[in-house]
Amino acid sequence: MKNHRWIAAVIYELSEDEARRAATGEVVNLQHKHRIGVDGPGCLNCERPYEEVQGTPCDSPAVKERP
Ligand SMILES: [Zn+2]
Repeated sequence: MKNHRWIAAVIYELSEDEARRAATGEVVNLQHKHRIGVDGPGCLNCERPYEEVQGTPCDSPAVKERP
């Protein structure tokens, strides 16, 4: 049985300058006080929300079995 790989995405608010730098691939120092939310949990592999697929095997074709 393939397991889901649970993740949560943290949402940060960026300034104009930070957004421009992040868009060019520059590493932006994310400040905790600018954290405005969390998206998830969900599965990184099949991209389904936790509530929908918990207790079921992950059906993502890209999933790799752990050794
Ligand atoms: Zn999954």
